[in-house]
Amino acid sequence: AHLDRIAAVEGAVHAFLHVASDSALAEAADIDRRRAAGEQLHPLAGVPIAIKDVIVTKGMPTTSGSKILEGWVPPYDATVMTKLRAAGLVSLGKTNMDEFAMGSSTEHSAYGPTHNPWDLERIPGGSGGGSAAAVAAFEAPFALGSDTGGSIRQPAHVTGTVGLKPTYGGVSRYGAIALASSLDQIGPVSRTVLDSALLHDVIGGHDPRDSTSLTDVWPSFAEAVRNADVAGLRIGVIKELQGDGFQPGVMERFREALALLEGAGAIITEVELPSVEHAIAAYYLIMPAEASSNLAKFDSVRFGLRVNPKGGGTVEDVMSATREQGFGAETKRRIILGTYALSAGYYDAYYGSAQKVRTLVQRDFAAAFANADVLVSPTAPTTAFKLGEKTGDPLSMYLNDIATIPANLAGIPGISVPAGLAAEDGLPVGIQFLAPAREDARLYGVAAALE
Ligand code: GLN
Repeated sequence: AHLDRIAAVEGAVHAFLHVASDSALAEAADIDRRRAAGEQLHPLAGVPIAIKDVIVTKGMPTTSGSKILEGWVPPYDATVMTKLRAAGLVSLGKTNMDEFAMGSSTEHSAYGPTHNPWDLERIPGGSGGGSAAAVAAFEAPFALGSDTGGSIRQPAHVTGTVGLKPTYGGVSRYGAIALASSLDQIGPVSRTVLDSALLHDVIGGHDPRDSTSLTDVWPSFAEAVRNADVAGLRIGVIKELQGDGFQPGVMERFREALALLEGAGAIITEVELPSVEHAIAAYYLIMPAEASSNLAKFDSVRFGLRVNPKGGGTVEDVMSATREQGFGAETKRRIILGTYALSAGYYDAYYGSAQKVRTLVQRDFAAAFANADVLVSPTAPTTAFKLGEKTGDPLSMYLNDIATIPANLAGIPGISVPAGLAAEDGLPVGIQFLAPAREDARLYGVAAALE
């Protein structure tokens, strides 16, 4: 049924870079056989899922939205894929994304943009616009995304879906093509909070192959959804993430959600995160710095594209011709920003200062969580903007991440849940909850109560 739906709407939505019809049908048939034979299977066995193309999939092309990886079929699976396969989930294919997960609109994909199913002229968010659009358009019941500065939560916000960035270290990054290793996390995208929790229960947990993986034993997130109760829960409204720049219709839905939570017994307070105003600047130094280092491995030798300059040339000539042709404009912009921020003489002024801001953001969160159990804000300042509206202005694109970036800098979990439609444009609005590190279960509880 999902493959039929994909065939019907993909021409308009373009959520997928690769649809794995044959292997999906074979995997589904295998699950049917095993179930008929009386085998005890995971409750999600046979349920289809879409995979963001930043995740390495054995036997399925993996490009991370870039021409430099066109045609690469990985010989191994990311840990999250191994876990999905073990539980019997059926992979429908790979979803579109901004090249190397750099962007907030999926327009930086080397394979053309994805369209928001709510309004095809608008962006589906980014970088994981393909995963969110696939779920919103009923092409897949749920999907995997990755979130470095909001790429799960902001697409969820603009497509009326649920998206959760786990605590840093909660889900293995092994086999996730790295953008910024200290910020990246894989997480679920779904239509309901319970679906997210069920999927998170499958993909989470310790992985010895990821050196930053936490060794915690995690509670069942599905249980947290079933036991949802906000009575007495202290919810801190983030003072800095409202007002100027936040669309009136977004704020209206936000305040309405707070009233609902208050009605259900939550205690609404206000908290301040004074360093948040510097978070975007710090993020756009740390992220490009790490990305410039991570992307150095695309050297024309080990993976994907190789461009031989006319008339031959040295190894260096081949590398630069390949990177010149293989990387898009945004990727090059960030590599240049990142190498500059890391270069001798500028390191302290840029990268060093950004790391100090990161510490301040972490301290702000620690102080806020002394007075609140969870924090809350709109997930992004506006509803889905028009395709093309911000492509010529990278800074205005970056500003869209104001509410999501702080959680990545602090390593804490965050969820975006649908909060209705904005009155002025009829487009989806998301509300974001943040919890202290390791308290992902708390987010599922409050999100489920609101749903
Ligand atoms: N929009 C942010 C960026 O461009 C976030 C990307 C992400 O989370 N992968 O860096």
